[in-house]
Amino acid sequence: MLNTGKDQPMRYETDSYLRRISAKVIATSEGMIVLNDSVFYPAGGGQPGDTGMLGFADGRQIRIVDTHRALWDPRVILHVPETPVDIWAGADVVAEIDWDRRYLHMRMHTCLHLFCAVVDAPVTGCSIGGDKGRLDFDLPDPTLDRDEITEQLANLTARRTPVTTRTVTAEDLRGIPELVRSRSAAPLVFDGRVRVVDIAGVDMQACGGTHVANTGEIGAVQCVKIEKKSRHNRRVVVEFD
Ligand SMILES: [Zn+2]
Repeated sequence: MLNTGKDQPMRYETDSYLRRISAKVIATSEGMIVLNDSVFYPAGGGQPGDTGMLGFADGRQIRIVDTHRALWDPRVILHVPETPVDIWAGADVVAEIDWDRRYLHMRMHTCLHLFCAVVDAPVTGCSIGGDKGRLDFDLPDPTLDRDEITEQLANLTARRTPVTTRTVTAEDLRGIPELVRSRSAAPLVFDGRVRVVDIAGVDMQACGGTHVANTGEIGAVQCVKIEKKSRHNRRVVVEFD
């Protein structure tokens, strides 16, 4: 599986629970490392890029502090080492993400999708962290209530609803505009297809992020803040309990 190949899905897209993989370095430039295969999630859609380690056959361990998509090709994943490193194309490597951090991001990302089922308004911003997450909604009415949101999220996580992904054609997506929730970012299109995350019967939307397998894995969360950012904009913040 080549991450430079436009027709191949990324590992995190098909198995978000995969933590470690054997790969080869195919390019390095300006402090970025490109592998022929990777488990690292590149920052996007409000979800931070993964951190982790690259282990080499000579025993060297290189810390990866961030992961991005290449501007020239969103299918190319750039691993950012902590310090510039001298490695060569063709080197064998074991790439492993910081799983605890990623799993928190998965739990929070799925939680924010549940949020979209609770609050019926367009999303204008999104940020996912290890302890908290936030969504900005285009919502002029200050009708949101923290306790009510917390209770609804608890009900939805308790149902342990399966979370699955699939792709639809960009053409199909145009016919179902409600699948695109975010006004701040257009969905990524690869080979004419867009990835969709489906929380069965609860929420379905275009998303390229990593998610837990069922809503029960999110655990207890609390809505801790509802802020008015502008006349139309409400920022809602949730934290893990
Ligand atoms: Zn998402």
